[in-house]
Amino acid sequence: MSHIGEFELIGRISAATPTPEGITGIGDDCAVIPQKQGLDTLVTTDLLIEGRHFLLQDVSPHDLGWKSAAVNISDIAAMGGRPTSVFLSIALPEGLTEGPGANWNSPSGKHCRPRLREGGAHEVGGGGAWIDAFIAGFNELCSRFGVALLGGDTSASDDKLFINVTLLGECPHGQALKRNTARPGDIIYVSGPLGDSGAGLRLILEGAPRVDYLIRKHYLPVPRVELGLQLAATPGVHAMMDISDGIGSDLRHILDASGTGATVEINRIPLSPELKDTCTAHGWDPIELATCGGEDYELLFTAAPGTAVPEGCTPIGAIEPEPGLRWSGSTRDYQGFTHF
Ligand code: ADP
Ligand code: MG
Repeated sequence: MSHIGEFELIGRISAATPTPEGITGIGDDCAVIPQKQGLDTLVTTDLLIEGRHFLLQDVSPHDLGWKSAAVNISDIAAMGGRPTSVFLSIALPEGLTEGPGANWNSPSGKHCRPRLREGGAHEVGGGGAWIDAFIAGFNELCSRFGVALLGGDTSASDDKLFINVTLLGECPHGQALKRNTARPGDIIYVSGPLGDSGAGLRLILEGAPRVDYLIRKHYLPVPRVELGLQLAATPGVHAMMDISDGIGSDLRHILDASGTGATVEINRIPLSPELKDTCTAHGWDPIELATCGGEDYELLFTAAPGTAVPEGCTPIGAIEPEPGLRWSGSTRDYQGFTHF
């Protein structure tokens, strides 16, 4: 069977799908749909699949609920929008329960490791405690940003747990920050340290001693909503997206959409002390984690030179007319994370 990559797949769907005039459709962090009262509606949806996007044995239901909301709220933040409401669909495998005596220590401090009962039998109240903890985490993050859960769909699943979240948001008409508006000469910024989430995941996968800060960054990311709103209101900020797959992949989306290239200075990429220490201890390349690890959910944006960007944003390179992504300070090419 021939192998077709994620971006080719989306490209084929996009090529066969006309987008109505005045709407931003497939290809950005959110669809942008103009409304009548001078506002644009933003819509994003994400599918999370057990084994591919999360490890059910490791993540607590509270943290999984939190993260399911976070990755979608982050896509609204990525456009400079305000998230408003959310729809949640879940397909639950039979026998998903909260293990009695579970002692796994979630980064959130909640002790609720899911267990499949032997033989797959449904425990009394099976799934009830799990879903309660999942929704508690989901709503905890949503309420922090004033997002209301308004509906969804539910099904049993033969095997794996599936979660689909659809997030709605809004912004003043025409103010969403898109991927296709970077200009040669722009400075490229990131909103915080990169690689922490990827390092947290690697510690989990390798069964290495857990560094609490890194594990929290992996399971409990906080989307940069306020910063996104601030950037959308800052003249000179041109293109923006959130970092879900690592800048090695994500920055290429901005470059392709804008018809530009860029050089990133490796030694300017912000790294946390925890990441550096952990990489030293395990012999890992921190730059690989920072550029390809993904799931940091920081913002990646471009701005004209001289733009007054908020504190905490770090310049890492520049947009250039020649296509392609160049790394200054390394002979390696960093590609970013792919889902296929
Ligand atoms: P993100 O990482 O920001 O969530 P994705 O890489 O998942 O974005 O998707 C890129 C773009 O492709 C988005 O605009 C998304 O809506 C669109 N897209 C992804 N899958 C499909 C699909 N099956 N049908 C239509 N559009 C899709
Ligand atoms: Mg995104």
